[in-house]
Amino acid sequence: MVIFLVIISLGLFVLLANAGNNEVRTSRWLGPNDAMQPMHPLDEPGLRGEALAQPGLRGRGLPGTERPNGNPLRSPHTVMTQGYGVGTHAPAEVWGAIDLAIDSTGDGRADPEGTWNHPIYATHHGIVKVTPNSYPAGNHVWVTNDAYRTGYAHLAEFAVTTGQFVEAGDLIGFIGSTGMSSGPHLDYQVWVWEHGRWVNVNPLGFGALDGVP
Ligand SMILES: [Zn+2]
Repeated sequence: MVIFLVIISLGLFVLLANAGNNEVRTSRWLGPNDAMQPMHPLDEPGLRGEALAQPGLRGRGLPGTERPNGNPLRSPHTVMTQGYGVGTHAPAEVWGAIDLAIDSTGDGRADPEGTWNHPIYATHHGIVKVTPNSYPAGNHVWVTNDAYRTGYAHLAEFAVTTGQFVEAGDLIGFIGSTGMSSGPHLDYQVWVWEHGRWVNVNPLGFGALDGVP
């Protein structure tokens, strides 16, 4: 009798575990834990100096690739799931960003299946700073040069390391849902160096949805 109960309990446990797995298509935010590093977009004041000091950074890359340009997902199936300066992107001077995901089924809405692990590309040249497991940005990448900085948040995986130099179009990572995120997407930020400080600007002014019908 006892052995039957044990077998039935095990069976139920396996069933429940599988049901749970099927339900969770997108990650749920459970709050920061002790392992997470707090991060703020205005941190890393030294990065621009590092970029300036990098031998060969100035004048490197194709003309015009200093300024961020184009869609970091490089896909015509890109959809914007949250706009600039609204919701979690407010106030814009701190959290200004757009959220991008992929519509792989053509119904005009983002879907997790097409979005998970979609490649992310640098939109300009610069030096890389990687911050794993940060709050609220999860796995985060900065690309910084002397005039521009772009931020890429919630990555599943990095394809670059801190101190690495990237050109516009280089692969930097893959879409995930790490940090404060309710599902897989890329949170994309553009910053401009003006009057001695980084100023957050709307990525749509930098072609972030170019090529999307
Ligand atoms: Zn976002």
